[in-house]
Amino acid sequence: MKEIYLDKNENPFNIPDAIKEKFIDYVKNADFNRYPEKGLPSLIEGLGRFTGLGPERIIAANGSDELLDMLIKRAAGDIVISSPTFEMYSFYATNYGHSAIDVPLNDDFSLNAPEIIKRRDAKLVIICSPNNPTGNLIGRDSIKAVLESGVTTVLDNAYYEFSGEDYTDLIRKYDNLIILRTFSKAFSLAGMRVGYGMAKPDLMVGLKKLQAPFYMNILSAKLAEIMMENYSLIEEKINYIVRERKRVYGELGEIAYNSDTNFLMLKKDLYDYLAGKGIHIRKLPLVKDRSRITIGTAEENNILISAVREYIKNK
Ligand SMILES: *Cc1c(COP(=O)(O)O)cnc(C)c1O
Repeated sequence: MKEIYLDKNENPFNIPDAIKEKFIDYVKNADFNRYPEKGLPSLIEGLGRFTGLGPERIIAANGSDELLDMLIKRAAGDIVISSPTFEMYSFYATNYGHSAIDVPLNDDFSLNAPEIIKRRDAKLVIICSPNNPTGNLIGRDSIKAVLESGVTTVLDNAYYEFSGEDYTDLIRKYDNLIILRTFSKAFSLAGMRVGYGMAKPDLMVGLKKLQAPFYMNILSAKLAEIMMENYSLIEEKINYIVRERKRVYGELGEIAYNSDTNFLMLKKDLYDYLAGKGIHIRKLPLVKDRSRITIGTAEENNILISAVREYIKNK
């Protein structure tokens, strides 16, 4: 039995060969004995161009997880989250001895902005859009309502590339907003650990003070740069995954929620059933009777679809 891994929202494709070649050329001549250039300016400038925001609005780190860690530590107080959502938020809050105050999403998975705004004691609000594990985008109006309250707000935008919804215009407008993105999902670089944040220059200066000068290794930084320079190759894969997501949703519609990401939340907990067939999906311990599947290659998705159909037929 071939094992299939659809559990971590990884990209099913490794990086394109053309990019691998460029990276290997770099590795052959890299000065491993030297520290990276202080602040990794080439990466920051690349991200500034790629996002259109300029280097003064960019911070990079070892995965967006590291930025979440840094921001939650800096908040030094209780944070507000909206369950069901990414579990690392409460993990870091607890690590620093604070609480993650939960203002759950509404029944349709929209944000309960009025209740979030009432939590005036909170130091940080974290909004995940598109949200993991529910898969939906959070409406701009509700995000703006939270921003208008003045509380420092993190918008975790890890699945941006699959969603088509760009929130970066809000960066120029709100000085209390930090948007986080990652190279782990759409860019196929989960193993390299590269994430970045965007915010107004004033806020950025404060954040960068918390960061060591040599905060990332040269290989991760270089590969991220090559990926951005060859974005059209990445885009092909993103388009493939979005097409597959729509197809899988079309096939599993009655048992899945629609999604703006590279995963679908299922209306049943099929973790054990699918594990028995060698298909590994994500159990959602905090969400009763639900589970989450990552969109894989067409071949993997077909195996998943047959297995789920069989489940529905026999239940
Ligand atoms: C996968 C994911 C991340 C990415 O974390 P990295 O540390 O960049 O790999 C961040 N937020 C959410 C909601 C995710 O699902």
